[in-house]
Amino acid sequence: MFDMVESVKRAKGKGTKVIGCFPLYPPLELIHSFGLLPVVLWDMKEGVGILKESDRHLQSFTCSVARRLMEFVISEEGSLLDGLMMYNACDTLRNMPEIINRGLKEKGRTLPLLKLHVPMVSPNQTNATGYLADRIREMIAEIESTFGVRFSLERFLASVRLYNKIRKLCQEMEDLVAAGKMSYMDFSRRIRNGYFIVPEDQLSELENALKEAQSGSTKNIPDGKKIIVSGILPPPDALCAVIEQSGMKVAGNDVSSQARSYGYIPKETDDPAAYYADFYRNHYPCTTILYSSDDRLKALNALIEKRGARGLIIVGEKFCEYEYLEMPFIIKMLEQKNITTLQLEIATDDDDNVEALRTRIEAFSELIR
Ligand code: SF4
Repeated sequence: MFDMVESVKRAKGKGTKVIGCFPLYPPLELIHSFGLLPVVLWDMKEGVGILKESDRHLQSFTCSVARRLMEFVISEEGSLLDGLMMYNACDTLRNMPEIINRGLKEKGRTLPLLKLHVPMVSPNQTNATGYLADRIREMIAEIESTFGVRFSLERFLASVRLYNKIRKLCQEMEDLVAAGKMSYMDFSRRIRNGYFIVPEDQLSELENALKEAQSGSTKNIPDGKKIIVSGILPPPDALCAVIEQSGMKVAGNDVSSQARSYGYIPKETDDPAAYYADFYRNHYPCTTILYSSDDRLKALNALIEKRGARGLIIVGEKFCEYEYLEMPFIIKMLEQKNITTLQLEIATDDDDNVEALRTRIEAFSELIR
């Protein structure tokens, strides 16, 4: 059984400084190129069970992502972190630095916080490339002065290549799930674990998983049962199991920590400003990247067509207004194309209660036959 805290401890044991990053699409390659380990503090339901520290600082109507992030950073495990890095996304996360700082102060701790401002304007309307380039240069200078390290073009290019290889292998693994060579639950678990291990190890684990799945047997599921899963967080493992036990095949995903993260592979360059201009401008559409929202339906339609899916299961994150604002429109447009949708909702305490959703999922599976 994978333990995210133990995994981070192992990296620390080798003398690596660990930077907790949020939200999902931070400049991982840049941080890694300095010899630091970026850990994305997003899908932490496996490692953060109770929320007693976080509940003292955040309202109960905050999403589980923010509550688990807060719990991890200010709890004992959070002392594994040597720094935090954040960029702007939703309103919930916007205020987190001040709340985290207050929580840490109560514990007599402080953490350096690196902030990146990603311009949330449509590249078709405003060219913000110069602004982003300045922010990236500032971030490089800040990392150098905070951690006493030097930027290197060669090391940056090597990190870019490493992360792009990982993205490519994740895409290949998604293809194997679509082909029935790997279960979606297994895939989902491997992607989640990858966020908490050093990328060099993640690469070899993905290579091994691909080899194993390619030589394994294929599950034959009728075409009519192909579905796409969408959500800001992936379904909990138990929910993945219920979906697959209901006879459906997850032929693709539009999950923010999965396809939305590895869906676009930026061009390789040793220039961080050019690399991140491409990375953010052409990012796979996500509700948290505001200017990409217009392209969400287009991307979903393309995925549904490519995979021949008949249905879409939306795993809604309770209290995430960004996702909920878009859902009615997406559902309406897809239903006009005869794509049946099922909207589920998951909150912090729902991981153990997915059996309650089994009947709805089984009924949905019957419906799309
Ligand atoms: S985008 Fe949604 S799920 Fe993510 S932190 Fe913001 S409110 Fe929470």
